[in-house]
Amino acid sequence: MDQSRRVNTDPRRDIPSVDRLTAAVLEQNSTLPRWATVEAARQVVAEARLALTESRNEGKKQQTKASVDDSAVRAARLAAQLVRPHPGRVVNATGVVLHTNLGRAPMAAGAAAAAAEAAAGYSDLELDLASGGRGDRLGALATKLRLLSGAEAAYACNNNAAAVLLVLNTLAAGREVIVSRGELVEIGGSFRVPEIMRRAGVRLVEVGSTNRTHASDYEQAIGSETGLLLKVHRSNFELRGFVKEVSLGELVALGREHGVPVAEDLGSGTLLDLRSRGLPEDSWVPGRLREEPDVICFSGDKLMGGPQAGIVLGRSEAVTAMRKNPLARALRLDKMTLAALDWTLAAMLDGRAEYELPVVRQLLEPSGHLQARAAALAKALAERVSAHSLGAEIGVKRDRVPVGGGSLPGFELESWVLEVRTSAGAERVAARLREHTPPVLVRVRDDAVLLDLRTVADRETDTVIDALTSALH
Ligand SMILES: *Cc1c(COP(=O)(O)O)cnc(C)c1O
Repeated sequence: MDQSRRVNTDPRRDIPSVDRLTAAVLEQNSTLPRWATVEAARQVVAEARLALTESRNEGKKQQTKASVDDSAVRAARLAAQLVRPHPGRVVNATGVVLHTNLGRAPMAAGAAAAAAEAAAGYSDLELDLASGGRGDRLGALATKLRLLSGAEAAYACNNNAAAVLLVLNTLAAGREVIVSRGELVEIGGSFRVPEIMRRAGVRLVEVGSTNRTHASDYEQAIGSETGLLLKVHRSNFELRGFVKEVSLGELVALGREHGVPVAEDLGSGTLLDLRSRGLPEDSWVPGRLREEPDVICFSGDKLMGGPQAGIVLGRSEAVTAMRKNPLARALRLDKMTLAALDWTLAAMLDGRAEYELPVVRQLLEPSGHLQARAAALAKALAERVSAHSLGAEIGVKRDRVPVGGGSLPGFELESWVLEVRTSAGAERVAARLREHTPPVLVRVRDDAVLLDLRTVADRETDTVIDALTSALH
């Protein structure tokens, strides 16, 4: 066969070079930065080569080839994604207050401003202004935590996973830690209690069965090697039916009797007493502390409503040992988080939490108020979309929503949702809402789009209306 003909029919020739594709994209989109365009072009070219190799290996005939124009459109879209700031702001219309994929607790505006101020300038982070000497990085924070919780001592680190690691490593390195088989939880990602134990350098001793653990199970396992009794909150699942667990109080009594410290990983907890407002008893940290464990740890950005942090409260001896652990330096809070957490705690001490902290405000918003907001949204929307084509049916109905984020399993808030049904299908509408700027996240159930305004601020309502109007167009 003639050589030139063979080269001419080589489908690889249809794949543009990175340079050519980059030039084609920049010609059409002059505002895209070069770094993102080149990277996008590389990815598109690599994908095209891979697709070609695969179709050859499978002996398929060549797929309809993509033109340079098609590749340029795809590369431009990819480049635009690369340029987008990450994480970018979204509107959470799911009603799930602590949405793990959406960054868990939104911080108070004041807390965010405090973080920005600490970040942008110098601060007295480790300076004692009175003496001009070295100051305590965590002193002010620990005082506020003690005042809010009644704990003897307080400490905070990067997140609750770090706090658990530090508790285990400080109180029981090289020794045994006894945990109920009903509490060997996985929190998500790679945080599993048995694995964190290995990494912390302690030996896990499991007691009881999946559904039932008795005080005698712990008692029989306690020996000369026991370093700690650990209780882990089942943050993201429930055990129901024929079940038995040992309460924190019972565990503390057992620990005392045998001279073994007791710790609880509460996961999600709040320092505000919201029990009369419908929140479960065991989410109230000061109540847990009254059982007198050596330490309790929980997340700063779950029910607490602050920045990502691991908060540790308990007896001075245990907390001081944690602060002195060399690992603490690797797990410490940065100044921005410290400033945001300090601001959050001050808001609680001042009695401003319910107005200032989005998590608290959202959790406590009365369902009647949500009903009125949903009805107003439905009305505004009906006026905008009535002329459009998708045959949207818009209604308001009562619903229930979980708190999310590894908090309060089985507990649901009563809510009201805007329900939208269209001929295009709910998944399609939800996808279009995600393409909006800013993206609007909703729930989809039984082919209906559900918007729950609990997690939507008043100033975001117009965005939701705009996004829905264009998604239904
Ligand atoms: C959420 C959770 C953790 C992890 O906390 P992070 O703040 O995400 O690191 C650990 N233990 C329990 C029981 C939890 O619920």
